[in-house]
Amino acid sequence: MRFLQPLIPLLQPHEAGELFLEIISYDLRLDVDFAKAHLDGKLAVTVKGATKPFSLDASQLSVKSASVNGRPARFAFDEKGAKLKIPGVPMKQCVVEIGYSKQVSDDVIFGLYKSKYDKDYILVTDLEPAEARTVFPCVDEPAYKAVFRLQITTEDGLGVIGNTPIVRREGAGAGRTTYTFQETPRMSTYLFFFAIGHFEETKLMAGGIEVITATRPGQAENSQVALRISADALLEYQNYYDVPYPLKKLHIVALPEYHTGAMENWGAIASRESYALVREDTNFRLKNRGAMSMVHEVAHQWFGDLVTMKWWDDLWLNESFATLMSYKMTQNLHPDWEMWGVFLRDEVFMREGAMKLDALSTTHPVQAHVKNVAEATHTFDSISYGKGACVLRMLEGYVGEEAFRTGVSDYLKKFSFSNATGKDLWVALGKRSGLPVTSLARAWLTRSGYPLVRARIIGNKVELTQRPFRFVGRASGIWPIPIRMRSDGKETSFILSHKSVRLGVTATSELFLNLGRTGFYVTLYDETGYDLLASNFPQLSSHDKAGVMNDLYLLLQADLIKPDLYTRFVSLCGANPDPLAIQVVTEQLRIVEAIASDSPIVQRIAHSFYPPLLEYFGESPQPGEPPSVGTTREFLTSSFALADRPYAEKMAKLFDNYASLDPNLKAAAAIGFAITHGASAEKTLQDMVTTSQSEVERDSIYRGLSAFDDPKLIQHSLDLGLTGRVSRSDLHYTVIYSAQNPHARDTVWRWMKKNYDATWKLYAGSQQFYIDVGRVIPLCAVEHESEANRFMSGKRLKDGGSSTTRILEMLSINAKLRKRLLSPSN
Ligand SMILES: [Zn+2]
Repeated sequence: MRFLQPLIPLLQPHEAGELFLEIISYDLRLDVDFAKAHLDGKLAVTVKGATKPFSLDASQLSVKSASVNGRPARFAFDEKGAKLKIPGVPMKQCVVEIGYSKQVSDDVIFGLYKSKYDKDYILVTDLEPAEARTVFPCVDEPAYKAVFRLQITTEDGLGVIGNTPIVRREGAGAGRTTYTFQETPRMSTYLFFFAIGHFEETKLMAGGIEVITATRPGQAENSQVALRISADALLEYQNYYDVPYPLKKLHIVALPEYHTGAMENWGAIASRESYALVREDTNFRLKNRGAMSMVHEVAHQWFGDLVTMKWWDDLWLNESFATLMSYKMTQNLHPDWEMWGVFLRDEVFMREGAMKLDALSTTHPVQAHVKNVAEATHTFDSISYGKGACVLRMLEGYVGEEAFRTGVSDYLKKFSFSNATGKDLWVALGKRSGLPVTSLARAWLTRSGYPLVRARIIGNKVELTQRPFRFVGRASGIWPIPIRMRSDGKETSFILSHKSVRLGVTATSELFLNLGRTGFYVTLYDETGYDLLASNFPQLSSHDKAGVMNDLYLLLQADLIKPDLYTRFVSLCGANPDPLAIQVVTEQLRIVEAIASDSPIVQRIAHSFYPPLLEYFGESPQPGEPPSVGTTREFLTSSFALADRPYAEKMAKLFDNYASLDPNLKAAAAIGFAITHGASAEKTLQDMVTTSQSEVERDSIYRGLSAFDDPKLIQHSLDLGLTGRVSRSDLHYTVIYSAQNPHARDTVWRWMKKNYDATWKLYAGSQQFYIDVGRVIPLCAVEHESEANRFMSGKRLKDGGSSTTRILEMLSINAKLRKRLLSPSN
């Protein structure tokens, strides 16, 4: 699903045909002292066609011996300590044997690390993109696929999981057991996986494949949702791809400490517990997110694992594709979950969604040129996932679902156990559809940004003009835009490929662009157009209503419309309650309240928007209501509890029955309890969060711990994640939630300055770190913009690269928006 820290520089990519050697196999014997988290490794790498002396990537390993074809060889690390040079081996085929050891550090949550819980831990690998070299010497690039034969010896009584099933287990004496794993098919090093610890497993068979969840003891019963949906998805994908699942089993390993979401290791998906351990009675939004992330990782078992990108510059394709597939397949499996609405909300519209990031001057093309892993890391964001998925969805709409499916299937069959590029996929889709897929794909993928389509009614005819949409500054260029519009009851579809076009259609009673919300552009109407839109608003579909609100909020941030136009449509949304549109607006208001709760406009919106909707959706679930209504209730109650003291007091009363409360009301109850009871609520909430065994349950409690008015209490909550009293995976909850609390803004900013470097280290500067910081600094530093610019300069700027400049640009946009909301005449 993701990628991580870039501490180790990578080799330049080797284009097709330039591989100067082939790795046939890695035979890896690991002697693991679990209690001491220490391993001794014996590795035999079979190499073919080495035409010159070569080196292996190796880092944080103590290499003790090396031999080539049985003869001792001299070896040396390069000056950076990242490459192990094996001199004098140009020969057709050779076996390089290396003896080494590794001590696992206590302070990391990536690479080979201890995923800790209670007084125990799971020793586990997390290797994408370039951490395999910290576990065994290898050529650590995706194009160097090889067969892996793994043997692990460790203390008796432990569970051991690898990519493939265990084929032999035998006593090794002295209370130790040796496990031999089935040989893997050819695969990339970043997909290699093993885990050692105490596991509880639950299994079921899906089409002859064993699907297994592995959890820490006591958690197996909470893995049922993940188990079932992973098995269902596996069968769906076998049909969709028309390619059998290539391995004999599929594990889902739930990890108590995991620094990102989940990872598609071949045959052994790793996941944080809040994704893998959701229950049927978990709040729908979190259950949905967990289930969908399993479907995402199962999609990768073919698209990513069986066929892998040649180099990291096509990692976006892996992620865009798995993102698109996760919504498509989850929708097939659970039609009542309304996944395409969730897609728009989470991937395209919300917070740091694709349309927000891609309107910044610091944006990048989906298909970015990537020289090394550090660069790949910083392009990994909602542009790569969300915009990429939107473009693939647009291509699917263009070629048709069946041609898309068969094209993908052809691509997977042709490049099985090998590597491919985006171009290979366009060619396959073009062959199946007979359409010029490559040119449309190129137009949207190789350039950054997206268009603003301006719709003007001149006379009674419609004129459309396009230009790039930016929050600040200007850019030039045009896109071929698939337009789906309706005017005066008539639907029209065409490609807008010019800067400006006068259409033959009239718009006297209706004009609406981007029907069904499949186009990746923002629409700006003229005054008449907005009047027509307002009068037709009640009849719009759910996706279209949400799309209008998304566009208006983007235009507000870009200062292309005045706040009163935005508030006019917020009122319309309130008067025509649609769950998706209400969720989108609530999320926008949460941000606006976080940065400008002292603005009279913002206060007016909040107090006119929430109360009638709370009345409309009610505060308890109705039998048979769609899941989206429950989620809307969660959004409304938790946001209004934060914004309105009397409402917080009302919600606080629900806290008495917290355990049996409707899961969608738990966040509001915890927020209300914290706001109403202050210091006397702190101990209760902290006790709950430190003793709770469930990450999804802790989520709501963290909302409470982040809602205090008192800076001292907020400070305690923020510190919690660094004390070791809660899982290290939990750190981001209080930081992100507190940044949305208007009373906590300054405290969070001070905390951030103090703990930025320590947190960076814990996350090893991974992209997850920057994603989290990107949700915090643009809010909490909104009144400290120049200080934030100074703070994020020098080494912090150098480490963060484009992620840092993007965070500062988001801050600048929020700071300007705050000013406009406080003095709207500006
Ligand atoms: Zn993924």
